[in-house]
Amino acid sequence: MKLIKLLANLGYGSRKDVQRMIRNGWVTDAEGRPLKESELIAHEEIRVDDEPLDPPHGSLILLNKPVGYVCSTKDQGRLVYDLLPDRFRYRKPVLSTVGRLDRDTSGLLLLTDDGALLHRIISPKNHVPKIYEVTLERPLSGNEAEIFASGTLVLNSETTPLAPAEWQAESETFGKLILHEGRYHQVRRMFAAVGNHVIALHRSQTGELALEGLDEGQWRLCTQVDIDKIL
Ligand code: URA
Repeated sequence: MKLIKLLANLGYGSRKDVQRMIRNGWVTDAEGRPLKESELIAHEEIRVDDEPLDPPHGSLILLNKPVGYVCSTKDQGRLVYDLLPDRFRYRKPVLSTVGRLDRDTSGLLLLTDDGALLHRIISPKNHVPKIYEVTLERPLSGNEAEIFASGTLVLNSETTPLAPAEWQAESETFGKLILHEGRYHQVRRMFAAVGNHVIALHRSQTGELALEGLDEGQWRLCTQVDIDKIL
């Protein structure tokens, strides 16, 4: 891929904008030597305005999503993309969220422009567990773990039973739920099905990957070590 196409696809601007940047000498190698339009060197060697290039295609991003942000590119409210550098919104292929978290849910959210990786993470076949910390309005009745583990619970307006899930109560109104699938508003609907109401929901883990040291609203690029913790 030529330099112009690479930079345009990373969201640095239209092909014309990028061509101008190259002609102005703003795109260089690590030693500051201006690159030519047709020249393509190793991704990690390229600098724009003396800054390293954005992550290459095929990247996985880990974000600690705060409550109040929506997993969409179009909603009118605050978007999870607002928490990332502006350019990331214009990348091609697009940077998609790996599944979704509701506006009122916080925690671990992955984004990627690698469609195959996305499908491997969300595919029920791969059984990647997701751990949710759940705060409830009313005290637990005590039979939640059994009901959720049964593999027979059918949610309102659905016909297929949920896959068995693990519930670990930690107090009368708080616990951890481990899911192996991701249906629409699944956690909230599971507790509604047993007569309770979720008042706070936080995803703390996907596979073995946790947020570890990443504050609310912060993001970082995943490494192969992180990917190995998921799959
Ligand atoms: N289940 C929900 O109800 N909401 C989420 O955001 C994630 C899982």
